[in-house]
Amino acid sequence: MAKETTTEKSTSANLVEVKHLVKYFPVTEGILRRKVADVKAVDDVSFTVKEGETLSLVGESGCGKTTAAQTMLRLIEPTSGDVMFKGENVFAARGDELKKIRRNMQIVFQDPYASLDPRLPVGDAIAEGLIIHKVGTADERYEKVRQVLKMVGLEDYHASRYPHEFSGGQRQRIGIARALVLDPDFIILDEPVSALDVSIQAQVLNILKNLQDELGLTYLFVAHNLAVVEHISDRVAVMYLGRIAELATREELFGKPLHPYTQALLSAIPVPDPTRKSRRTILAGDVPSPLNPPSGCRFHPRCPIARLPHCSVEEPQLRELRPGHEVACHYAEDFL
Ligand code: SF4
Repeated sequence: MAKETTTEKSTSANLVEVKHLVKYFPVTEGILRRKVADVKAVDDVSFTVKEGETLSLVGESGCGKTTAAQTMLRLIEPTSGDVMFKGENVFAARGDELKKIRRNMQIVFQDPYASLDPRLPVGDAIAEGLIIHKVGTADERYEKVRQVLKMVGLEDYHASRYPHEFSGGQRQRIGIARALVLDPDFIILDEPVSALDVSIQAQVLNILKNLQDELGLTYLFVAHNLAVVEHISDRVAVMYLGRIAELATREELFGKPLHPYTQALLSAIPVPDPTRKSRRTILAGDVPSPLNPPSGCRFHPRCPIARLPHCSVEEPQLRELRPGHEVACHYAEDFL
């Protein structure tokens, strides 16, 4: 299948719609475990993922990107909001309906070793999903495992080996094979290359891109590094402290970022050209705690262009300032 361009994909239907997703983790105290506060990990996040595209969710650690992704699959139960998958409400689904949706929405974790049973040959680990969903006979399952191993660049004989016998890159291929075995439409890639060496990262990203082209897969790619997602994304959503700060096509976001936070993240990407001066924006301070996010714009204590008191009082909403380019900053027009 030929790869569509970003423009063609922008007209595709939505496969996934995340609406006002909220996930708070209660903080309790005392013997009675009385709730005293909430960690606002994801605080009213909405976005869509179009059929066949890769949407990347990017931000520093603690921004809520992984919680948002895992809540979409109900690996973590949401506080409120909705996730629609092919028009069906994932959070309202029960029993067989939920099982059917789950089969179609898979996840690849950052640390594949932690998600593999060390006592189970990887062929059995890959076949687990087929057994849970009662797919095929033993022979058909074996054949399917063989197929997905081949798709990720591994061989038949790897099926009988144990996780400790593989390198980090090979284990991540096994993680991808596990996600593929149920023929899903949608895969969440949760920091899939963060733990790998740079040379291996490129191999795994290429495998993911080729699989998407061949199988027409839709990806949500979670990462803390904008440089990693530049070549794989069609659109990028930048998160900061539980909210989306900016959402745009890859070309727009990397070419004309409108949010000061995105600009700072982009300025931190090394430029492989010694003749070009890098103009790095160093952000002041650490990411504040999601237990007690700053008032108004959550980015204001670190923002190099904050205007007080406006930025510390009024929370900016996501606004579409260019077609398909949304930004949550009162003064983003300054960068148009
Ligand atoms: Fe900076 Fe104000 Fe924009 Fe927030 S709203 S990013 S503090 S300028």
